[in-house]
Amino acid sequence: MEMEAVIGLEIHVELNCATKMFCDCPNRPGDEPNSNTCPICLWFPGAIPQFGRAALEKAALLCLGLNAELQPKSAFDQKVYYYPDLPKGYQLSQAHLPLSRGGWIEIADEQGKPKKLRIHHIHMEEDVAKLLHEMEGRTPISLVDFNRAGAPLVEIVTEPDFRSSYDAMEFLKALRAQVRYVGSSECSMENGTMRVDANISVRPKGTDQMNTKVEVKNMNSVRHVGDAIAHEITRQSACFQSGEAIILHTRLWDPEKKATLPMRAKFAGPCVPDPAVPVIELSAEWIAEMKKRLPEMPAARAARFSTQYGMTAEEATYLSAEPDVALYFETLIGEGIAPRTAMHWLTTQLMPALKEKKMELASCKVTPSRFAQLLSMLAQDEINANAAREVLTHLFDSDETPDRIVAARGFKQVSDPGALCSLIDKVLAEQPAALNDLKNGQAKAIGFLVGKVMQASGGKANPKMIKEMLAGKLDSYNQ
Ligand SMILES: [Zn+2]
Repeated sequence: MEMEAVIGLEIHVELNCATKMFCDCPNRPGDEPNSNTCPICLWFPGAIPQFGRAALEKAALLCLGLNAELQPKSAFDQKVYYYPDLPKGYQLSQAHLPLSRGGWIEIADEQGKPKKLRIHHIHMEEDVAKLLHEMEGRTPISLVDFNRAGAPLVEIVTEPDFRSSYDAMEFLKALRAQVRYVGSSECSMENGTMRVDANISVRPKGTDQMNTKVEVKNMNSVRHVGDAIAHEITRQSACFQSGEAIILHTRLWDPEKKATLPMRAKFAGPCVPDPAVPVIELSAEWIAEMKKRLPEMPAARAARFSTQYGMTAEEATYLSAEPDVALYFETLIGEGIAPRTAMHWLTTQLMPALKEKKMELASCKVTPSRFAQLLSMLAQDEINANAAREVLTHLFDSDETPDRIVAARGFKQVSDPGALCSLIDKVLAEQPAALNDLKNGQAKAIGFLVGKVMQASGGKANPKMIKEMLAGKLDSYNQ
């Protein structure tokens, strides 16, 4: 029997607000443990939570960026359960009236066709504290860090529209790009600012059964989400085929064992309206104002890059996936660099170099204006491509302008016809076989000779001119 998976995702995104959701403590969970706390976020009895506008605006922009409908009325509930990272016994979350309903993300499916994956709703909630498990001598101890307690979160709950690990991974990549565009979060699974739980069930292909689902947690990269889902589909399909019952429970992904393992269930209590936090009412004017603040989103930007700059769909998607890359690309064009040159040098030279050096585009020394100066020198034949690549390596760790680096290191291209002519004659004298080929009308000798002349010039000759001059010789020999 061929099986099919039914998958839904629940994604927690930590908003990058300066302060926590219900108090003015800094929202910096990585600081010295328990340094960013106050009676509200230590959850002392009697402390009244004060809901902040910053979290509401960041959350609202995130919802709009995911095509969701902001609700005129939303409210916080107390989600009741006790755990050492939640000593007040309840979490403030929106269980009944979420901030937004609906929404979708479009991905390209495995055949390249557009596929819309729907969002059920998006709600806001406060984060819980963080538990650290350590050893004190031979005694295991658990420590609680309240820096994260009360940090602003949204939870994105999707419809069960996903059929494969591929769908889930593409959705998460697109989600991350869209949330980064609106500026609400870095959405880094590695740093914990995006956390994903997957609900997975299986059924015979072609049926519309909704079978018992299993929740999988503890994945800390998009790749792990894909691996965990693929593993769970295989495991459940085997259970289903052998007639073994699948029971509702939660499993943890173990990246070392490459398997999901059962975890003990947490007690989940009721959700009751919170009496202290006022209902959030959004006016139509406020929603319209937020819509105006929405930037051009990745799909729209990719479409524009295709039509405005003649990029292929693949190039346009790459250039628009990250807001800082898109901005860098357009800044280069603004500095007078041809779009194709900008695309080529950004994608084949600058981005790979940054990756290798583990640097960020926004904070590296190769600013768009310095990079544009370099590419202008290349376009004006002042340097050749080899020299431009060399100069680029110096731009990463020097504040010198590209033209000074070129002058100081002797990268200037040799374009003087006389100098090139004597170089060519010298090389031809050393390469009698290639000279013979030229005399016999063999055009393929030109490529070889260009390389040799470049070498003889120490990489500084103008390759375009050498090629033209050699082609001229070929013609003159064969008239
Ligand atoms: Zn606080």
